[in-house]
Amino acid sequence: MPVVLLVEDEATLLGLVAQHLESEGFRVIQASNGDTALELARREQPDVCVFDVMLPGLDGLSLCRILRKESEVPIILLTARGAEIDRVIGLESGADDYIVKPFSLPELVARVRAALRRAPKPHGDRLLCGDVSLDLAARRVYLSDQEVKLSHKEFELLATLMRNKGAVLSREFLITQVWGYDFDGDPRTVDVHVRWLREKLEKDPSHPQRLQTVRGVGYRID
Ligand code: CA
Repeated sequence: MPVVLLVEDEATLLGLVAQHLESEGFRVIQASNGDTALELARREQPDVCVFDVMLPGLDGLSLCRILRKESEVPIILLTARGAEIDRVIGLESGADDYIVKPFSLPELVARVRAALRRAPKPHGDRLLCGDVSLDLAARRVYLSDQEVKLSHKEFELLATLMRNKGAVLSREFLITQVWGYDFDGDPRTVDVHVRWLREKLEKDPSHPQRLQTVRGVGYRID
């Protein structure tokens, strides 16, 4: 069941929207101010966020900017007519969509469903290892949110290690996974690629914290 974090300080509207979303098959977490919302977003990891722009405490736009740095959760802003829309669009808060009040409940549900369909899949498509994040679908790698450019083989090698996080993988295994069964080159090519990966991902590549050599066996990522 998809989880929606709904943040609105008008109690009647909050109750109404929450009830409707629940009747449409969503689990709804509610907050009536920005600070509680931020705490809930971090703790509960909702699938979609719906924030009113004008909130007591942290407002919807600030909330949006903070969360956008931490996750890719889709965010829909609820905004009043007029000047506020310009702020919502103009400030590049990182919101995915906005809905102008007053809105119909079916419209909101449709927008929430659309946001969910566009959302990157949190499981399956993305591998995490500390501050390294690998997006299998987009073939991109991030180190603390900064994209790291990898060659095709470096990417495959990292993906293989991350899929088996914590396990020691032999050179032979890595070769068949990354270079294929018919590879007849130098097995030390694995070591060379590991070195390149360390140069891109480790603070101090000569004392790796992440990509470990297990002497006589192979490599492991932690
Ligand atoms: Ca409000």
